[in-house]
Amino acid sequence: MKLLDGKLCAESLVADISRQVAVHVAAGLRKPHMTVILVGNHAPSESYVKSKITTCSLSGFDSSLVRFPETVYEQELLAKIEEINLDPSTDGVIVQLPLPAHIDQQKVINSISPDKDIDGFHPTNFGRMALGQKAFRPATAYGICKLLQFYQVPVVGKHCVVIGRSNIVGKPISIMLSNDFDIGNATVTLTHIETPRELLLDETRRADIVIVAVGIPGFVTPDMVKEGVTLIDVGINRLESGKIVGDVAFDAVAPKCAWITPVPGGVGRMTVAALMINTLIAYQNNFNLV
Ligand code: NAP
Repeated sequence: MKLLDGKLCAESLVADISRQVAVHVAAGLRKPHMTVILVGNHAPSESYVKSKITTCSLSGFDSSLVRFPETVYEQELLAKIEEINLDPSTDGVIVQLPLPAHIDQQKVINSISPDKDIDGFHPTNFGRMALGQKAFRPATAYGICKLLQFYQVPVVGKHCVVIGRSNIVGKPISIMLSNDFDIGNATVTLTHIETPRELLLDETRRADIVIVAVGIPGFVTPDMVKEGVTLIDVGINRLESGKIVGDVAFDAVAPKCAWITPVPGGVGRMTVAALMINTLIAYQNNFNLV
């Protein structure tokens, strides 16, 4: 079993980004700039935002954190996003999810300029990605692809099973790996809560690659996968003890895997690295560098 080390891969990508930024800055351009909007003080969101801001600094980017209280009116949030959309000094903007229940999450996502949508959640980017066109690719899915590429895990023609169909993880990764992309051309099955258990097991037991994003600790057990599988664990679950675990019963399943991602230190790190790549692309677009 070999680890798909997201920390190592992310550090390598970030180092490469910072070298590219240094070249642009030496040529007289300003640094790339990411703005993060955080509503409330949900502990996991605070920690994800902190990681994004720290990684901006390691990438050579400027960053801004805009905070709103949990009680913010939707209109106030939308007005701020409009202001950032029009601000030429910001290349990319993220609204940290989830948002409080009184705010329409999709409306907020739709209000972000597609040119600054580094999360890749706006319908324009998602649609362009699905059509195989140039787009900001959804960050977690893009991070998974970059990790597979970094470790040269074979993907083309492989049977890949995705468990979970959320708009931010399961759906985009299933589309991206089935598209004719630089990391793609797999044969993909997307499963969800209505997939009968027997069908799910039939699929996962013959899969070359299993990607799980359900948010249930220990969901993937050794009986569900074949020897030599590549297992990508997207889950981030906080146990009562405070320990962070994924969706895979890691210790039991790892011996059967050719490759497996750890949690933490796997996909989470890659999501942040992919956001940095998208921000650099947004910046290069702004300055017509690509
Ligand atoms: P989500 O929106 O809650 O979606 C979960 C998906 O799992 C849904 O599509 C659901 O199906 C499916 N599901 C639930 N139970 C299932 C079952 N028994 N069999 C098959 N499918 C089942 O979650 P998410 O936002 O994708 O996040 C999933 C996990 O990944 C969470 O732990 C989250 O914290 C983590 N995450 C990590 C990163 C990262 O950077 N590492 C990024 C995002 C999310 P239905 O659609 O039918 O309900």
